[in-house]
Amino acid sequence: MSQLGSNAPSSPSTRRPIVVQKYGGSSVADVERLGRVADRIVATRRAGNDVVAVVSAMGKTTDGLLALAREVALSGEPPRRELDMLVSTGERVAMSLLSIAIQARGVESISFTGSQCGIITNDRHFDARIIEVRPHRIEDELARGRVVIVAGYQGVSYRREITTLGRGGSDTTAVSLAAALSADRCEIYSDVDGVYSADPRVVPDAQHLPEMTFDMLQEMAHAGAKVVNAHAVEWARRAGIAIFARSTFDPISDTPKETVVRANAPNDAFARSVSCDRDVAMLEVRGEDAPNRLLAALEGAALPLLAFDGAAGHARAVVSLISAPDWPATRAVLEHIACVRCDVAFVSVVGPAIASEPAHFMALGRALALADVVPLAQSFGPLRLSIVVDVKVADATQRAIHAAFVNG
Ligand code: ASP
Ligand code: MG
Repeated sequence: MSQLGSNAPSSPSTRRPIVVQKYGGSSVADVERLGRVADRIVATRRAGNDVVAVVSAMGKTTDGLLALAREVALSGEPPRRELDMLVSTGERVAMSLLSIAIQARGVESISFTGSQCGIITNDRHFDARIIEVRPHRIEDELARGRVVIVAGYQGVSYRREITTLGRGGSDTTAVSLAAALSADRCEIYSDVDGVYSADPRVVPDAQHLPEMTFDMLQEMAHAGAKVVNAHAVEWARRAGIAIFARSTFDPISDTPKETVVRANAPNDAFARSVSCDRDVAMLEVRGEDAPNRLLAALEGAALPLLAFDGAAGHARAVVSLISAPDWPATRAVLEHIACVRCDVAFVSVVGPAIASEPAHFMALGRALALADVVPLAQSFGPLRLSIVVDVKVADATQRAIHAAFVNG
């Protein structure tokens, strides 16, 4: 192992372990918390690791910037390119402050934007996908013994435009960098100490899940669980990078409480989790050729589809609104052909083989009947059973499903 602080580039045999850490908005919400994050990064560096820390915008900064954009856009849609110029600044503020805090603690560090880190994306502004990562500058700085702080959630397109990666995109920055650097681990710090069987604020007896597979976490993320961004899990799965989800507020420890996500999780056979997505809309079309008319309208709207069912005279779809800043305008267009409802929630139970047993569908039906919940629509995938309900009964639905599937 090379000396800490050595300026000599490390050869493969003396290479320090590379740890990529990601800190979410609540971890750096104010100066005091930012200082604690700096302490954790410094401790990780002093333990003999190379550290790359990806940071989100402080607290609710992104929401605040988006609100300003909507205000100045009057009743129109803010142009997506300008939105990217705007919201990418949130992470730049956090990265530079964090680097200053680390240097104040006597450790060398440098901050980079996504573009400086070689994160190349397509040109879909506000919801871009990473195409490749060329982290040469990071590698050079690590070799100089520096900690590298990276602004999450952003990259640069082939047209040299700044892009952002969709809400919650800092996770994707972290995992894609971990993959490109062949990191030893990727730690994701937030205000919760891992993944639970439900949101503990809604379901008081939710249980901590110590481990799970990429597949399960990805399905949960698609079902609206705000643990780790779905694209980030996809990167982790493809590159085989284990994710360690921890709380930023726990004391620094060698044996922290955490959820480990990896390809093989031998003890996950009974891991089940209930999630709820309120950032959705349900669309219904009646009459001749209803399924095709609805699908054609959705094609134009480019909103991610969560559920769809259709028969001759009736079709129904549920779409995700999380990365749709122009939803009011899109909604106005869709309302010409469909009945659009936003007062709905998409509630799912995710678990290994959950939809391969008829008994599980019956258990779901019984749990809903017992709680007096009438589902508006249903859908399922191999690892997921989902229903759409009126948002007023979303919490009661989660508790009923958790009682039947997790504690049942
Ligand atoms: N700041 C961005 C957001 O709030 C990205 C992130 O937090 O990962 O969505
Ligand atoms: Mg965030």
